[in-house]
Amino acid sequence: MKTAAYKRILLKLSGEALMGDHSYGINRAVVERIVAEIADVTRLGVQVAVVIGGGNIFRGMTSAEDGMDRATADYMGMLATVMNALALQDAMRRGGLISRVQSALRIDQVVEPYIRGKAIRYLEAGKVVIFAAGTGNPFFTTDTAAALRGMEMNVDIVLKATKVDGVYDCDPKENAHAVRYEKLSFDTAISQNLRVMDATALTLCRDQKLPLNVFSIFRPGALKRVVMGEDEGTLVEV
Ligand code: UDP
Repeated sequence: MKTAAYKRILLKLSGEALMGDHSYGINRAVVERIVAEIADVTRLGVQVAVVIGGGNIFRGMTSAEDGMDRATADYMGMLATVMNALALQDAMRRGGLISRVQSALRIDQVVEPYIRGKAIRYLEAGKVVIFAAGTGNPFFTTDTAAALRGMEMNVDIVLKATKVDGVYDCDPKENAHAVRYEKLSFDTAISQNLRVMDATALTLCRDQKLPLNVFSIFRPGALKRVVMGEDEGTLVEV
């Protein structure tokens, strides 16, 4: 039987991924499907850590552009990721997956604080760990949190789940001839400003030689195909 290509992964789920075709908030059916896909992968013996975004509820930058203090807006954004983390954990509970939420901001009555050693022990015990509140710092993104936690958890790869099935040389929605990259170097992604992850996250992954795969969470079975090492999405490497 074919075995998984990776033992431990960090899955970055954006707020948009939880939204599905809704314009705001959490789409329960979509979240349940994502949970089923994560469960599939854990059944292969793969350890799964998740960094959850918050853009479906609140995005700091947007509010800062409307005149709000940026740091305050970013703290609100981080709190939005905690809401998503709780929704995801609850969906996992319903789907029979055991998970733990750890937050980079302390909200002790609701979620555990981030403790690296504890998170690693959870992963080793087969529990899914959901990292909430990004890096805990304003002016950062949950993409950067994904790169950071990925390195701290010694994962084999960061998987960025998006709406598009990989990285294209131009916008596939605007150009029918857009070509998907099967593989890409971090340097090309950074220098050509390709929409992969923000530059801070890309630089962190490049410097630590942590590979990244960008794939569509809306393609059924895509997560499992990526984990099996099949041609799915775009692989970004040094
Ligand atoms: N955020 C932050 N620091 C972090 C991570 C997130 O300040 O380390 C804030 C920021 O305002 C961001 C919001 O939380 O807009 C939601 O995160 P993000 O936009 O990365 O979510 P996604 O786009 O993945 O849904």
